[in-house]
Amino acid sequence: MQKAETIVYPVHNGLYVNLTNRCSCACTFCIRQTATGVGKNGEGADNVLWLEHEPSFEEVIEAFNKQDMSAYEEVVFCGFGEPTCAFETLKQVAAEVKRRYDKPVRVNTNGQGSLINGRDIAPEFKGIVDTVSISLNTPNADEYHELVRSQFGDAAFQGMLDFAREVRKYVPNVIMTTVETTISHEDEAKCQAICDELGVHYRIRAWVD
Ligand code: SF4
Repeated sequence: MQKAETIVYPVHNGLYVNLTNRCSCACTFCIRQTATGVGKNGEGADNVLWLEHEPSFEEVIEAFNKQDMSAYEEVVFCGFGEPTCAFETLKQVAAEVKRRYDKPVRVNTNGQGSLINGRDIAPEFKGIVDTVSISLNTPNADEYHELVRSQFGDAAFQGMLDFAREVRKYVPNVIMTTVETTISHEDEAKCQAICDELGVHYRIRAWVD
C-alpha cells in the first residue's frame, strides 16, 4: 500500500496530488534530475514523492479520507511527474473531488498530455478541472526542445501550444508560465504575445531555489 503522504501533500493552502512519477520530458531543471538524494532508494526529503507504484483511484481516495479537507482551498494535480501520464486516474479523482468537496481543481502540466495519450484530451477536462497551468518555459521551439528534452522531440512545442488552445475551450482558467530571471524580458514579451494569440493568461512565476 502506498503511503498517503506520498500521494497527497499540503503546499500552502492547497492539497497536492501525486499520481505518477512518469513524464514525457527530462527537463534540465527538473528536481527529478537535480535534487540531491532523489534516487528511488535514497533517504533525502525529496524521496517522499517517489511512488512505489502508481496509486489507483481507490488508493488516492483513501489518502483523501485521511485529510481534513476544510483546511484546503484547492486541489492541485502536480507531483514528481506529469499528471496526464495517469490521465484516467486524474479524471476519476478530479470528478470525485468535485462531487465530494466542491473544491477548485488545478492541473499543473507540461502541456503534452494529448501527445502522451495519443488523442486530444482537452474536452475531457470539462466540468472537472477549473485551472490548467502549462509550463511554457520559453517562446522559442528550439530552446524548448533543448530545455525539456521531450520524448516527442520537435513535435512537443507545437503539441503543447495546440493543447493550450484547445483546453481553454473547456476550462475556465488556462495559464501558461515561465520562471522569472530564466529568460530575457524580450522573450517574456514574446511569451505574452503567444498567450494573447492563444487566448490564455501569461504568468511569470517566482524563481524557487
Ligand atoms: S515536465 Fe515537470 S516533471 Fe517532467 S521533467 Fe519537466 S519539470 Fe520534471
